[in-house]
Formats: sequence, structure tokens, C-alpha cells
Amino acid sequence: MLEIETLSLRYGRHLALENVSVKIAEGETVVILGANGAGKSSLLKAIGGLARPVAGSKISLDGQSLLGTPSHKIPETGIALVPEGRGVFGDLTVEENLLLGANPKRARATEAERNALIFDLFPRLAERKRQMVRTMSGGEQQMVAIGRALMSNPKYLMLDEPSLGLAPIVVTELFAALKRVQKTGVALLLVEQNVSISLSIADRGYLLEAGHIVGSDTAEALKTDAAVQQAFLGGT
Ligand code: ATP
Repeated sequence: MLEIETLSLRYGRHLALENVSVKIAEGETVVILGANGAGKSSLLKAIGGLARPVAGSKISLDGQSLLGTPSHKIPETGIALVPEGRGVFGDLTVEENLLLGANPKRARATEAERNALIFDLFPRLAERKRQMVRTMSGGEQQMVAIGRALMSNPKYLMLDEPSLGLAPIVVTELFAALKRVQKTGVALLLVEQNVSISLSIADRGYLLEAGHIVGSDTAEALKTDAAVQQAFLGGT
């Protein structure tokens, strides 16, 4: 269980998150819905050790606190982040980018097996394994970013707006791959503005508004929730 409790985060005087509590069980898919600037990326950054929360915040994995764990050690704990903007290395090939993800100790024994799994998930990466990543399309680069995160053998995969800037057909393809990742038992923590597709793969969701959790429910219930409809799905 990944548990975030009373998490607050500030940038100077700006309180980006206040008293945020979110739980993700093993194998579960949870989506955080929120408008631009709501604090979604900040939440993932705090879990990933990329931003330091205010005292009194708690982030733990299976009862062990993650606070103070530097970002480069987080993959060792079984948590992987696909950051907004992907964070891939454009001047390296697909293969080289994937290999960078296999660095954690927990990943080394299963490197070949995981590589095969990723090429099975994204056949396009197998066809282009020697291609420089900067010459690839946005969708392909997102596949590389997800593939690299999966190379670390995560139990929890965090994705920051994977659909951003991609054509609808590519988004559909990516989410089909994420469904297959779910079936391997990996828990997903998804931050998205594409509400309908993310609710279609999620078990539960939270609504984040101006740094506060203002609601949470099952994905089924959120699909028909009036506030969600109004805020995100173009309802009235
Ligand atoms: P988006 O979808 O636009 O990325 P978000 O929900 O992910 O939005 P965050 O990126 O977490 O939101 O930002 C939350 C708030 O904190 C915003 O008001 C943002 O301007 C501010 N913020 C984020 N990063 C920093 C930073 N490094 N320094 C100062 N303020 C920041």
C-alpha cells in the first residue's frame, strides 16, 4: 500500500498542496483529476522525492516512510515515475533509454524478461530499437518513457499526463497498453486531464482542486458525478 497522508507542499509562499491524503493499494489503478495548476504534478513529485513536503506530511510504502529518500533511490523501492514531458534522452537510442531504466537492483535479474515484455507491449519500439529517440513521434517517445519506467520492475507506476499532446488514436493505443500493464499486477497512479479515458481504466479517483482533495469515489461513480461532469466532461 502506498499511503500519502496530510501532505502539504509549498513553493516559497505558494501552498501547492494542503493536507492531501491519497491511498493506492497493490495492483490498484487510481486517477487524480484536476485542472491546470491544481497540484497534480506536485503530488507525483513529492512521492518521487523530487519535491520536499512540509513537516507533518507522511508518504509511506508498506508502512515504511519514503520521506527523505532521494529521487534516484525511489526506483529501488518499487515506485517508478513517468514525468510530464516524458524525460527521455533524445540523443540515445530506444534500447539505450530502456537500459537506463534497468539500473535498480530489483530490476537487474529480470532485465531480459522485462525488455521482452516491453517490446511485446509496444511492438513499435522493437522495430525501432536502434533509432534515436529525438527522431521519434510524441506517442513513440511516450512509449519509450513508459517502457523505461517499466524496466525498473515497479510495483507502482506513476504517470503524469501521458496523453498530453497526443492524437486520440495514439492515446487509445497507449491506454490499451496500460490496461495490459495493469494485468501484470502493477498499480497505476495516473494524473490526467483526459478524464473519460482515465476513468475507463481506473478503479478509483480523487478530485484535486487548488491543492486540496475535494472528493473521491469509485471510477464508476465519478463517471456520472455531477461535479466531474461539470468540471471536466462538458456536462451542465
Ligand atoms: P499542470 O497540469 O498545469 O501541470 P498541475 O495540477 O500538475 O498542473 P502543479 O504543476 O503541481 O499543477 O502546480 C501546482 C501549483 O504550484 C501551480 O500553481 C504552479 O504554478 C505551482 N508550481 C509548480 N511548480 C512550481 C515551482 N517549481 N515553483 C513555484 N511554483 C510552482
